[in-house]
Amino acid sequence: MTGERPVALVTGASAGLGEEFARQLAQRGNDLVLVARDRARLDALAKELEALGVDAEVLSADLTDTEQLGRVEERVRTVDVLVNNAGFGTFGAFHTLDLDVETREIDLNVTALVRLTHAAIAGMVARGRGGVLNVSSLASFQPGPMNATYGATKAFVTMFTEAVHEECKGTGVAVTALCPGFTHTEFQERASVPANEVPGIMWQNPPEVVKAGLDGLAKNRAIVIPGAVNKVLGNLSAVSPHALSRRASALVLKRTAN
Ligand code: NAP
Repeated sequence: MTGERPVALVTGASAGLGEEFARQLAQRGNDLVLVARDRARLDALAKELEALGVDAEVLSADLTDTEQLGRVEERVRTVDVLVNNAGFGTFGAFHTLDLDVETREIDLNVTALVRLTHAAIAGMVARGRGGVLNVSSLASFQPGPMNATYGATKAFVTMFTEAVHEECKGTGVAVTALCPGFTHTEFQERASVPANEVPGIMWQNPPEVVKAGLDGLAKNRAIVIPGAVNKVLGNLSAVSPHALSRRASALVLKRTAN
């Protein structure tokens, strides 16, 4: 590290939004620490960034493994920006899903995010500067039948991030939750979400989602919902009674599953 440029650590940097976060953070003048399990993909991205004069460190880790997560916690203590982006979803009626996978989803989407936020933020507050961007989801605003564990992990992420955002006011540390809707990445395939019938107007691409997130973090927004359609849906969900929104989601998601 040169020590002259701020350092940003991105989890889930081997694909999708995380890869794009790394690129845009590099363009915004940061050096990078790239975290995910797939070392080969991280090495390729590091090479690409280094060709642009960026210092890119690869830290391959499975964030659901306590020992490997611990190594990332140590590394994150001194960074300037943390993007908690790694996450995955599962789709189907809860009782039919593999319980070990469901609990791993909580380990990654919730426990790793909480531990990394804690490890990063103490040093940031002491230094009087820094930023934490937690990638949540539009799914965080209402119960998600067929998506029960995923939606609940993201509800945690949004609530947790909003609370820490308020706690950090006046410290110089920005804390933001990014709540994307359907975005073209590997997410839907990994989660076995039958997303083919989702209308085109509902989809975004990583560059616009990531830009909205980083712009929001720079302004220390509590919550960022990228895209006009998502903003309308997110705001509707936030003000609708759960009894209504959960039934509406069930209608759409159960039909999608059939
Ligand atoms: P993606 O393309 O599937 O990428 C997920 C990333 O997480 C990969 O880099 C993956 O890398 C990493 N990851 C998965 N398990 C991991 C583990 N155990 N330890 C470390 N890293 C792990 O999905 P994405 O859409 O970019 O997802 C990024 C975030 O956006 C997630 O939090 C997701 O919930 C959220 N989000 C996505 C959408 C969407 O429609 N795409 C919508 C709303 C919210 P390795 O496999 O190499 O570990």
